This record gives sequence, structure tokens and C-alpha cells, in this order.
Amino acid sequence: MPDTQHITPKQKILQDTFGRKITYLRLSVTDRCDLRCTYCMAENMSFLPKSEVLSLEEMLSLSRIFMERGVRRIRLSGGEPLVRKNIIWLFEHLGAEISAGNLDELTLTTNGTQLRQMAKPLYDAGVRRINISLDTLDPVLFKKITRRDQLSVVLDGIEAALSAGLAVKINTVAVKGINDAEIASLLQWTQNKGLDLTLIETMPLGTVSDAREDTYMPLSVVKDQLDQQFTLTPSAYRTGGPARYFTVNGGTNKLGLITPLTNNFCDGCNRMRVTCTGRIYMCLGQDNHVDLRTALRSDTPTESLNACIDKALGEKPKRHDFAMIDGKMQGKISRPMSQTGG
Ligand code: SAM
Ligand code: SF4
Repeated sequence: MPDTQHITPKQKILQDTFGRKITYLRLSVTDRCDLRCTYCMAENMSFLPKSEVLSLEEMLSLSRIFMERGVRRIRLSGGEPLVRKNIIWLFEHLGAEISAGNLDELTLTTNGTQLRQMAKPLYDAGVRRINISLDTLDPVLFKKITRRDQLSVVLDGIEAALSAGLAVKINTVAVKGINDAEIASLLQWTQNKGLDLTLIETMPLGTVSDAREDTYMPLSVVKDQLDQQFTLTPSAYRTGGPARYFTVNGGTNKLGLITPLTNNFCDGCNRMRVTCTGRIYMCLGQDNHVDLRTALRSDTPTESLNACIDKALGEKPKRHDFAMIDGKMQGKISRPMSQTGG
């Protein structure tokens, strides 16, 4: 339940026109990355000029405005959040908001390459749970997918995170003809390590070298394949997020499926997304946005930001438009996932 005691009547809790309460903020802290996953980025990405990106102090101020409006969970994402210089400073300041009772949880989504050195500082800052993206355990395939030879670094990062006391969930994007034959071994590996695994369908975000239609792997097909090897039992577990969960072989670890194309999940959407340039996107799959940066840099930042957030709230769409119809992927968006933060 949001703690609304300190919210003035003007700074109402965030509720959209469909009655959905927004308690979760995803903040992209950079669009840059040290990997180049083929479904996410082109090899020669042009990144945003640094002058357009919010400072860490500005990101903290923005986060505090959202907390005042009832946001209780913040996830930092990117690009790769851990390649942003001094990012631990932001984690420490947001972590202090947990100790102060203003936030319930601070998490991140990472590709894992920096965790060897950053897992402990993250834990010390107040992070307890992280999502790590890993699409294969085969070094050759890892290099093919990410265009970088970094599998052993990521696996070491996962071990460092576990040793630091962080709960780890693995995220895997299913890519047809690339890692679909690998998913059963990934599930077995996460089972052996006592980790949860969430599978994600590719979404048509940004321009990449392979046609989206060629690499789209419906998770309904993956699930049928997994059913041959594992006993997957639907679970009532929900996070307020888009995943549907299953228990695996009667154990405690979960398999999550995020199926934006085969199954729309927007009814319970509880989140807003802010890019590293301070644009608020009400939905991953829509282009409408409101610019918070100008408000943040104005003479009356609190008032202006609250007005912008209210405007954004009024424009939150009912659902995204991703779909596969007659073999064509619908709802394509030119903005890559790395800009909005996955
Ligand atoms: N760099 C970090 C990472 O990879 O975890 C955080 C940002 S990344 C954009 C967040 C998540 O989005 C990752 O799990 C990634 O696999 C996923 N992702 C990126 N592009 C995607 C796409 N087009 N469709 C579905 N998932 C995508
Ligand atoms: Fe980087 Fe994450 Fe995109 Fe891969 S998915 S290129 S790791 S931002």
C-alpha cells in the first residue's frame, strides 16, 4: 500500500484514467551499453550526446517527486545501468530512501558484465534483488547474440551477485533459430542453481539487422517444448508485472513468461518509464511522451514536474499495439528498448 500520509492534496497518488495505480518507476540511467545484443541494438549505435542526458542529481530529484506521488518501487535500467559513471552514488541515495521509509524496493536490470566489482556495493546500497539478462550458456552463441565475447565475465558476475547476498532472476529473450533450442538447458541450469527464470518474446522496438518477423519465437511454442521435459504448473504468483508464472517440477523456483505479442498483459499495468533524457513514456509500446527535463530545469521544478506527471497520467494508453498478424509484426516503434529501459 502506498504511504500517502505525506502527500499533499495537490500531489495526489498516481492513478490513470483506467483506474490503474502507478507505484512502480523504471528509470533508464543511460542509453549506452557494453554489449550489442542483436535484437536490441545495431553494431554501430549512435548514442545520445551526454549533454542531453540527465545528471545523477537530476535523476534523484525526479525519483523523489515520484516517491512523493506514491511510487514505492524503483528499477534502474538502460542501456546498461552499471556502465554509467558514478552510478553507485544514485543507488546509495535511493537506498537511503528505503531506510527512510519512502521506498519499498530498489532494483536493477543488468547484463551482468560489471557485477564482479559492483555486486557488493549494490548490496551495501540497499539493493536486494536483481534481474540479469542471459540468453545462452554457450560461449559461441553468446558472442553471436551479444556481439561480444563476455560469457565468462557474465557468469562470474552472477556468482558475485549471489555471494553478495543478492537474489537473482535470469531474463532470457527467446530468439527463433538462435537460442530456442537452448532454453531447456537454461531452465535446467537455473533450476540447479535455485534461480527463477523469465522468458520474453522479442518486441519490435528499434531498428536491428534481422527482420523482427524472422526472429520472433512465440513463447506458446517454447512452452510446448518445455512441457516435454519439465512439469510446469500454473502458479497464482503475481508481481503486478506482465509475467505469468509456473512452478517447475513441483519446486519453489518459478518460470515466468512475458508474452506481449501472443497475450496482452496491460490490464494491471502499474508502471511508468522515464528515459535518461527525462522523457516519461506511459507505455513501452507507444510513442507518446511528456518531457520532464524542461520542467526539472525550470524555476519551479516541483510544481512543473507534478503538472507534467499529471499530463502523462492522463495520456497513459489502455494497452500496447504489439501483435503478430498474418506473419507481420504490428506496432513497431523506432525507439530501441535501450532508450526506454527494459
Ligand atoms: N542492459 C541491461 C540488460 O540487458 O539487462 C538492461 C537493459 S535491457 C534493454 C533490458 C531487457 O530488455 C533485457 O532483458 C533485454 O534482453 C530486453 N530486451 C532488449 N530489447 C528487447 C526487445 N526488442 N524485445 C524484448 N526484450 C528486449
Ligand atoms: Fe545492452 Fe541490454 Fe540491449 Fe543487450 S539488451 S544491448 S545488454 S541494453
